[in-house]
This record gives sequence, C-alpha cells and structure tokens, in this order.
Amino acid sequence: MTDRYAVIGNPIAHSKSPLIHAEFALQTGQDISYTALLATRESFVSTVMDFIGQGGKGMNVTIPFKEQAWKYLATDILPRAASARAVNTLIFKEGKVIGDNTDGVGLLRDIEVNLGFPVADKRVLLMGAGGAARGVLPELLHRRPATLTIVNRNINRARELTDWFTEWRNLRVSDYPGLSGGEYDLLINATSSSMNDELPPLPTGIFGLRALAYDLVYGKGLTPFLQFAQEHGVAKLADGFGMLVEQAAESFLIWRGVRPDTRPVIAMLKGKE
Ligand code: NDP
Repeated sequence: MTDRYAVIGNPIAHSKSPLIHAEFALQTGQDISYTALLATRESFVSTVMDFIGQGGKGMNVTIPFKEQAWKYLATDILPRAASARAVNTLIFKEGKVIGDNTDGVGLLRDIEVNLGFPVADKRVLLMGAGGAARGVLPELLHRRPATLTIVNRNINRARELTDWFTEWRNLRVSDYPGLSGGEYDLLINATSSSMNDELPPLPTGIFGLRALAYDLVYGKGLTPFLQFAQEHGVAKLADGFGMLVEQAAESFLIWRGVRPDTRPVIAMLKGKE
C-alpha cells in the first residue's frame, strides 16, 4: 500500500514540495505519494481531517497555516514546534495529530552542514519578525551565537518575538537605523522583502569580515539583499533553496525513518531556476 502525504497551503500551486518528496522517495525506495492541497482559513482544519480520513500518514503545512496548525489542529506538540509556536510537519498516528517544526533545523543544516558555517560565537542578524523568523529563532539560539539581533520595521513585532526567550541574555532587538555602527558575521533575511524586489532599509558597514548573507526567499536569483551584500564585499551568499530541501528532508526522516541525500535535490532545484 502506498502511504499518502501532502502539503497544505494557500497559494500552493507553485509549491516545490511534491517534486522534492518525489525525488526523496525515488532515492530511498520508499513507496509514498505526495500531493499539494489548497485550503482557505475556514476549510483548513476540515481539509486536514478529510485527508486523515482517507488514510493520510502525514502533512507539511505552509504559508499561511503554520500558526493555525499549532493553535487549533495538533493534539500533541513536539518541543521544536512549541518553541517556534508554529507547525510545519504533521504526523498522523494512532488517532493523534502530532505537530513538529523542521524549518529551524532545515535552515541550520543548510548553514552549518552544506555551507560549512558554524553559528556558535558568531554575531547574528535576523531580519524580520514574521512566521519564518519565529520558526528559525529557537534553533539559532540553541547554536549559541555570540549575539543575536532581531531587526524589524515594526519593532513591536520583534519585541513580541523575544518575549518568549527572556532567558537568552545575548538576544537583542533593533530598528533598522539602530543597526548603524554594528557588524555581523551571519545576516539572515527572513523578511518577505525579496518577494517584492525590495531591500530592507539596512545601513552600510554592517557586514563583518568573511560574513555570510542568507536570504530565505528562493527562486529569485540575486535578490536585492544578496546584491547589497555583494556590493559591500560579501563573498558568501545563499538563497533559501537549501533550507527548503533540508526542512523537507527532516520531515521525510520523521515520517519514513530514513534521511535522504539533499545535495542532488538542491542542485536539481537550483538548476531549474
Ligand atoms: P510574514 O508575512 O509573516 O512576515 C513578513 C516579514 O517581512 C515581516 O517581518 C515584515 O516586516 C517584513 N518585511 C516585508 N517587506 C519588507 C521590507 N521591504 N523591508 C523590511 N521588512 C519587510 O512572512 P514569513 O515570515 O512567513 O516569510 C518571509 C519569507 O521567508 C517569505 O517570503 C518566504 O518565501 C520565506 N520562507 C522561506 C522558507 C524556505 O524554506 N526557504 C521557509 C519559510 C519562509 P513588518 O512586520 O515590519 O511589516
């Protein structure tokens, strides 16, 4: 019997998850199907329940339902999803709906393993305070950076994010002008600015020597943020394809007990860009 999985979101037509999981299944010899499901805020829970009723084994949850899945759907929340307050992976098992979050570990695997850039003791700048920033913040903190600064246009959203992590003394909040005079080793653009070809209002002089500039957005080539970093001497640039594939691999591991090789899949996606 083929085990059924799906990704649910809105919009969902252009999701790369079905392609990624098909590649993983082929590579590991797992007998699964993986489809994309469109839902509205109103139909989200019933669409998931219908899928469970049809024998579904697990699901990925994407924009804009990660918070809804954490709040209203999962009967059991695993620690990674609890600290992110968002669910991107569901496991349907023995009548339970178990919620996990693989976004943070996906980003960190890409940065540390694929790009060979350890986060410990680095000065990290996390741009944005939306769902993506929330998903990756706990995992970033666990790597014990020297400092972690969250910057957001709406500074209150950034403050709200840090309210959950008061035990981390090296966690700071700033507005964009307040970044002037500081330098960072790892700069992560977790805003949606690149989707609109916009550059967050970053001051100059913020890139440390041998810095890595990472944009979570993928499929946009050299985004305004990556271009800005390049123009200011940064040689290490990365987009979000690696994170996308790594978070999928972590979900696949949870569901199937086998970790796929992500490198050929990242290369395939980048080649299609
Ligand atoms: P949200 O809508 O929840 O948050 C958007 C954030 O971007 C807010 O902090 C907002 O700031 C900020 N922002 C938007 N435009 C600008 C701008 N021009 N300048 C500065 N800040 C700006 O989005 P998400 O957090 O869910 O997603 C962010 C991006 O991350 C998405 O574009 C998505 O593609 C990407 N992503 C990639 C993943 C991957 O696997 N590679 C996984 C998840 C997300 P403010 O609050 O001030 O309005």
